[in-house]
Amino acid sequence: MAILKVARMGHPVLRQLAEEIPQNALRSAELKSLVDEMFETMDEYAGIGLAAPQVHFGLRIFIIRPDPADEESLRVAVNPVITPLSEEMSEGWEGCLSVPDIHGMVPRHVKIRLDAHDRDGKKYAVEFEDFPARVAQHEGDHLDGVLFIDRMTNLSTLAYGQEWRRYHAPRPKPEEGEEGEDAEGAEAPEEGEG
Ligand SMILES: [Zn+2]
Repeated sequence: MAILKVARMGHPVLRQLAEEIPQNALRSAELKSLVDEMFETMDEYAGIGLAAPQVHFGLRIFIIRPDPADEESLRVAVNPVITPLSEEMSEGWEGCLSVPDIHGMVPRHVKIRLDAHDRDGKKYAVEFEDFPARVAQHEGDHLDGVLFIDRMTNLSTLAYGQEWRRYHAPRPKPEEGEEGEDAEGAEAPEEGEG
């Protein structure tokens, strides 16, 4: 197992169309080991999602964990197909391990279906709404060479991390008995980098 190097914006691998995993490789030890290394890398950088091109593998694989506190939210998606289930779009903050320290508002489909294979090569389908749907669409885009900034319709929302945390990050509601003034620097509940 190893922590993999993350490709940053400008590296050609982030702009290429990633390749499908052939049917006969869906259950291979190599695939499992790459997925495990992707999890290790995502943990190391506290990401909530990671796509194979972000670690220099031009393959159609991504992993997500939209709720870092909930292991159940963890998904491996090999050869994923994302289908929007409604026309409804919503804007939300996104960041990306390959676009370090930058945040921006991105429109995404509110509801989607994800068809993919898991780490063991087993086919599954799952429906996502809101934040998990956003994370899956962000990671799915990486397999097509698309970065979140390409999807932005209002570049004036672009912000560096420090300024984003100070002026834009969703503030957690103060707990009872707390002053709640010092939310600055606190981790936003609904934001993460992938
Ligand atoms: Zn990303």
